[in-house]
Amino acid sequence: MQSRSTTLSLNWVNIIFLTAMPILGIAGAIWWVSTEQFNWATVIFTFIYLNLAGISITAGYHRLFSHRSYEAAKPVQWAFVAFGSACFEGSVVDWSTDHRVHHRYQDKDEDPYAIFKGFWFAHIGWLYTKNWRADGSAVPDLWKNAVIRSQHEYYILWSVFMGFIVPMLVCSLWGDMWGGLLIGGFLRVALNQQFTFLINSLCHFAGTKPFSDKITARDNWLTAIFTYGEGYHNYHHTFPGDYRNGIRWYDFDLTKWLIYGLSKVGLAWRLHMVSPERILQSRVAMQEKTLREKLSLQKVKSPALMEHINKTIEVAKEQLATASERLALIRAQYESLKNSNNQAIDHQIAELRTKFYEAQRELKHAYQLWKAMLNGYMKLTTI
Ligand SMILES: [Zn+2]
Ligand SMILES: [Zn+2]
Repeated sequence: MQSRSTTLSLNWVNIIFLTAMPILGIAGAIWWVSTEQFNWATVIFTFIYLNLAGISITAGYHRLFSHRSYEAAKPVQWAFVAFGSACFEGSVVDWSTDHRVHHRYQDKDEDPYAIFKGFWFAHIGWLYTKNWRADGSAVPDLWKNAVIRSQHEYYILWSVFMGFIVPMLVCSLWGDMWGGLLIGGFLRVALNQQFTFLINSLCHFAGTKPFSDKITARDNWLTAIFTYGEGYHNYHHTFPGDYRNGIRWYDFDLTKWLIYGLSKVGLAWRLHMVSPERILQSRVAMQEKTLREKLSLQKVKSPALMEHINKTIEVAKEQLATASERLALIRAQYESLKNSNNQAIDHQIAELRTKFYEAQRELKHAYQLWKAMLNGYMKLTTI
């Protein structure tokens, strides 16, 4: 088990490195441009490498290794470990240990990057005082993986090679080795790190809470753009086992689309998804809470009107609950029949599929009624 000192002694290696990367990156870029060494090939390479490394953190370090929200083929895992190393965000073992603790003790003192300790603390300050290193005992599942173990043991070598040497080697193909180090190395590392840090700071600071208001994590499409979809953080903290963070088809969640794409070519499987009924339950509970808060502020004077409102809410909720239960039941029957691989029950499967779509439509309709009622009463509270 890693030891977490309670004293806040400064970690000078982290402080110097995290400060040096943006300074060297920006100063290096100015020098690179002003000495007429600018090269489009280096810029394009840096853009690709930035995203490759960044999405290895979100799809690999985060959703695969920390949460086990899906399974992936070995070469995919190795690629995530290798390209993730290029971000200098610690080994998979270190990163996942901290992240699992972040979820287990979210918003409590034990949370390594608890937002209540301040925006900058959650963003980068926690790394200035991070004086523990995981030893693998808190992540036994990851410790079994030889590549992850090797990366943990030789983390500096992995990171220096993937973070600096590879960009230098690639960019030297068009004669821009120093551009490779300054732009593809230092500047890119600084960007990768700041984008990841946003998840711990801004995603717990700005945005909405559609699924739970008991946590600081928030949904924010703007942060999702910079974090490959991790900006839907209220959903993620409510349902951390789901391979998606943005659940609507149009939610900008590049990581979700990558994992889905990998599953379509047989490189990822067992993609875990929370059922729509459970998601809807959380959403409806939050909507009801908001409505009741607004109604109580409104101080409806007529007891008869209040009774009528309460009754309408209960009826709409009951319709939703009935439709949800029916859908969950049919889904369970459908899944068990589908897995039985029995040719004779093909017609039963077809029948259940029809019932399933019917139940889905019923639930959608019940939700529309719920929303109509909600909007009506919300308008009442603004009069
Ligand atoms: Zn979080
Ligand atoms: Zn997480």
